[in-house]
Amino acid sequence: MTLASKTPVLIVGGGPCGLMLSIELGRRGVESVLVDGKDRTAVNPQANATQARTMEYYRRLGFADEVRALGLPADYPTDIAYFTRYTGIELARFQLPSSAEAGSVARNLSGVWNAAELPHRVSQKYVEEVLRRHAEACATSSVNYGWRLLSFDEQPGSVLASVENVHSGERQTIEADFLIGVDGARSTVRRQLGIRYGGETGVERDFFGGKMAAVYFRAPDFYERVPHPRAWMYWAFNPERRSWCAAVNGRDEFAFHTQLKPGESDQVSDERAKALFAQVMGVQLDMELLSVDTWIAGHALVADSFGKGRVYIGGDAAHLFTPAGGLGYNTAVEDAVNLGWKLAATVKGVAGEGLLPSYAVERRGLAIRNTNYARQLAESIGNYVPHPLIEAEGPAGDEVRREAGDYLNGHSRREFNIPGITFGGRYTGSPAIVPDGAPEPPDAANIYVPTASPGGRLPHMWLEDGRSVFDLLGFEWSLLVTGPAAQDRIGPFRAAADDLGLELTVVELDFDAARELYGAELVLIRPDQIVAWRGAAGSTEPKVLMRQLMGKADPAAARS
Ligand SMILES: Cc1cc2nc3c(=O)[nH]c(=O)nc-3n(C[C@H](O)[C@H](O)[C@H](O)COP(=O)(O)OP(=O)(O)OC[C@H]3O[C@@H](n4cnc5c(N)ncnc54)[C@H](O)[C@@H]3O)c2cc1C
Repeated sequence: MTLASKTPVLIVGGGPCGLMLSIELGRRGVESVLVDGKDRTAVNPQANATQARTMEYYRRLGFADEVRALGLPADYPTDIAYFTRYTGIELARFQLPSSAEAGSVARNLSGVWNAAELPHRVSQKYVEEVLRRHAEACATSSVNYGWRLLSFDEQPGSVLASVENVHSGERQTIEADFLIGVDGARSTVRRQLGIRYGGETGVERDFFGGKMAAVYFRAPDFYERVPHPRAWMYWAFNPERRSWCAAVNGRDEFAFHTQLKPGESDQVSDERAKALFAQVMGVQLDMELLSVDTWIAGHALVADSFGKGRVYIGGDAAHLFTPAGGLGYNTAVEDAVNLGWKLAATVKGVAGEGLLPSYAVERRGLAIRNTNYARQLAESIGNYVPHPLIEAEGPAGDEVRREAGDYLNGHSRREFNIPGITFGGRYTGSPAIVPDGAPEPPDAANIYVPTASPGGRLPHMWLEDGRSVFDLLGFEWSLLVTGPAAQDRIGPFRAAADDLGLELTVVELDFDAARELYGAELVLIRPDQIVAWRGAAGSTEPKVLMRQLMGKADPAAARS
């Protein structure tokens, strides 16, 4: 089998970032070739949490329900629970709804959790299969596992990439207009560009700072042996061994992670993996090992550049997290959403030269923000050290456990209730945004302040008929009108969009709650649901504004 020898976009990497980019381009009819050196999507669970914002992106593409049906059974609680050992004493619990409850809970939440979707606790390996299926369903997306990038050469008008079939050794050159390196932490593309990761690495903590063992296993007796209500995530907290263990399918599969202590061997044999688990379980458990691996916790790294010209990077290739808060895969998906519409517009010739570089500006800032949050969360749990008496019988032990329970209850809400991180990211200073001068809301992990001031996610609202405002937006640009969508208001925007060859969907929300939430008569929303501009009809020249937003004009031109 040979691959296309010429393509507008070569995507290197078929993890969540690459697959999502393939879908974003494919849904816009833009051809791409994706290569990944593995034989298939991930077989290990890896990420366990799809954040609410990522679920909103999946909803936008029409497959949020498909993802929500994956992983744990519909009635399985998604609690986070902390124990001395899994068969020992429960210390703390953060109760969260099952996937069956998520829809109705979301409809009744407001304020910081006003969202079209709640988070979903599901292993990445299941999500990747859905992403692959939707990428392959796009007529213009070519998805090829078993092919790896060897090197590339950026020419004045294209990029020449050398790829190899990992089975036959067959080599081929692909000429691409753009090459996107979403090839993970060891990214060949990042290295060949000479871009380094900056930030923090090698941090040592009692937990989440050092070499970790990852054990994926099957144990049909787990639930019978654990004398506590079911949870999605089980944490063990004792001085001998700490861990977290995520329920993968709610029946018999689990993903267990523990930190290897200084002086302990880096080699994790099957026997040792079972012994490590017995320490956190408190008893020996019959288990079938599905995979045993190691990884490093303690990174908060962001690439010095996300690329330029014809070559860009995204996902883990551009930022590397310690998984506290569950942000790595979610940040990777959002990179693809941001890059997708800009790259498609550039390939189609409707964007100016300024649009694509705004990806690097916007997403690098977000990556610095998000890796910082993950670092703070890793410190909060990792530097809180189990007391030697945590398992002691009697009042002294009780007191230690009460204190630990208080701390862990507080921590679990800091780490797993993060609407501020999820919804509050902003692209302040981006050339693809026209600011309105409104004060920036505070950036806080656990509090999200809805604002339609340009640069952030359009604040969500439920309509009286039960629909989400996001379901009314177009796949490309949208103009939200908080009054009658009269011709004198919308006509100039339609003309501007037509001029540039852009699709514009007009959404009329002629009621007070919308006027109050959105704070302007007109709100212009980008394809990634980020507010690009807001104001009154007549306060800007839409043609100038939209040219600027598409990277075609002098940024000063559209500012009032
Ligand atoms: C234990 C653990 C738990 C985690 N938990 C969470 C969580 O709860 N939430 C969260 O958001 N994140 C979590 N993460 C992080 C998450 O798994 C990653 O951030 C995510 O996989 C990044 O996606 P990506 O597409 O950027 O890269 P990857 O998933 O790494 O995909 C990169 C792909 O590129 C391919 N590739 C590499 N080199 C080449 C080449 N030369 N040619 C072709 N293909 C190549 C690889 O085969 C791979 O498939 C966790 C990670 C770990 C280790």
